Amino acid sequence: MKTFEELGVAPNIVRAITEMGYENPMPVQEEVIPCLLGSGNEVIALAQTGTGKTAAFGLPILQKIRIDDFQPQAVVLCPTRELCLQIAGDLNDYSKYIDHLKVIPVYGGSSIESQIRALRRGVHVIVATPGRLIDLINRQTVDLQLVKNVVLDEADEMLSMGFSEDIDEILSHIPAERNMLLFSATMPTGIARITKKYMRNPHEIIIGRKNEGAQNVRHMYYMVNAKDKYLVLKRLADYNPNIYGIVFCRTKKETQEIADLLIKDGYNADSLHGDLSQVQRDYVMQKFRLRNIQLLVATDVAARGLDVDDLTHIIHYGLPDDVESYTHRSGRTGRAGKTGTSIAIVHLKEKRKIKDIEKGILKTFEQGLVPSGKQICERQLFSFIDKLEKVKVNEEEIQDILPSIYRKLDWLDKEDIIKRLISHEFNLLIDYYQEASEIETPQEYQKNRPDKFRNENRNEFLKRNEKRDSGSFKGSGRASEKGYTRLFINLGKTDGLTPHSLIGLMNDSIKGRKVTVGRIDLMKNFSFFEVPDKEAKRVVQSMNGVKAFKRVVAIEAAKAS
Ligand code: AMP
Repeated sequence: MKTFEELGVAPNIVRAITEMGYENPMPVQEEVIPCLLGSGNEVIALAQTGTGKTAAFGLPILQKIRIDDFQPQAVVLCPTRELCLQIAGDLNDYSKYIDHLKVIPVYGGSSIESQIRALRRGVHVIVATPGRLIDLINRQTVDLQLVKNVVLDEADEMLSMGFSEDIDEILSHIPAERNMLLFSATMPTGIARITKKYMRNPHEIIIGRKNEGAQNVRHMYYMVNAKDKYLVLKRLADYNPNIYGIVFCRTKKETQEIADLLIKDGYNADSLHGDLSQVQRDYVMQKFRLRNIQLLVATDVAARGLDVDDLTHIIHYGLPDDVESYTHRSGRTGRAGKTGTSIAIVHLKEKRKIKDIEKGILKTFEQGLVPSGKQICERQLFSFIDKLEKVKVNEEEIQDILPSIYRKLDWLDKEDIIKRLISHEFNLLIDYYQEASEIETPQEYQKNRPDKFRNENRNEFLKRNEKRDSGSFKGSGRASEKGYTRLFINLGKTDGLTPHSLIGLMNDSIKGRKVTVGRIDLMKNFSFFEVPDKEAKRVVQSMNGVKAFKRVVAIEAAKAS
């Protein structure tokens, strides 16, 4: 392996990247940097995000800038505002010791005037989203006549976002003797058009094979009935207490719904999609980067440009239609030498898609069995115990109160204290899973599974039905009175709910005429109550999301069991 100096990188740049912790070049850098430092070399690099591609094109470009010509000499085009800011930030870091070198990001969704002012002050490298750069060209606020290097980063993404014509337009304003560099995670056919039209004999560099998923990503799928998808998502989150990942949905509406459900159920989650304002999206992304959110529910488009290195999981709540999108999504985990898991929650109709993706990424998916309530509780307990073992004890802070705590707990032995600690942390979870039905694998699918699997499911199925007889979670356990609808509410005796307080809660939440309440069945952690059929919708709409007993009320028609 060569050093950065041996690849020809100038000492002032090496100094800056060394400070950033770059000790040795990454493979894409080893291939691309010497090529770009030579003259007249064009490069097509098939490289996923996270491979070090920004430095691969960034270092040679910066090194070739002539500082005294205070005019744009390099243009980097990228699909999103976030990526634009990130690339410009990286280039600024790399050029820390190149005096007076100026890099400016220009992107849509923010004041064009301030970007114009910044450009007027002079710039050497423009990092831009295509639409905004065209706006600036049309206003004659940028002159690209001295541009020698053009980088198309995440070219496949730019094409899939419909920037093809914008790229043509921008290139028509840059002298033809420019050098072009194209970076892409996949090679859809549109890329061939660009390379054929604009590039002269480019070096093709492949880091990882075409359309291949990242090496250290484990691909799994769970085959479930469509109605159970959300329950399975919750189980997977519960089974992985330290999960830090993105849940991809197919539509903005579904994204918002799943995020709302997760939040309502007490998960550390939020949504990211195109119906949010730029300020809201920035805020969510920042929270996610800081790990204040564990599960980010997002659409493909909104998640573009969100760059987080150490995601543990990518969950496909809805599989994308094409292999490229799957590769992009799953390439967000297993980065920077870490391992990651890409999980698809699929129903029978999507079986074909799994096969197609397997062919595209040249890897096979493992089939996962949805963890049982018992397995989940065990995992959570051990994770908690593990944290307990490793927690930093702040002796000084607590030394004053410890003696009185010891005195108060004096009558309990160590085993008792451990039991109480665990019960305090886990009673709710254990109760939930005790009462929840196990999740069935779709019947048709089971026929093709090995016998062991079928038996396990049969046993689970029997257990499930036993539970149903005693009134399982959300299964109402009894038929409602004629003319009445039976509703499920996520509050129970443990929360302090009584028939009286339930009626009070209804009266407080529902505006207009009062609703008669029929039979009320209070259970430990949830309850059922009946209201006249014609009022059911109004009750559900008015009470859902209301805060009561320190919880957010979730209410829905009870499923008949
Ligand atoms: P990129 O693919 O450009 O987004 O880079 C992925 C991550 O790797 C970023 O966090 C970079 O800062 C980091 N990185 C890039 N090159 C190196 C290197 N030679 N050594 C260590 N880290 C690097």
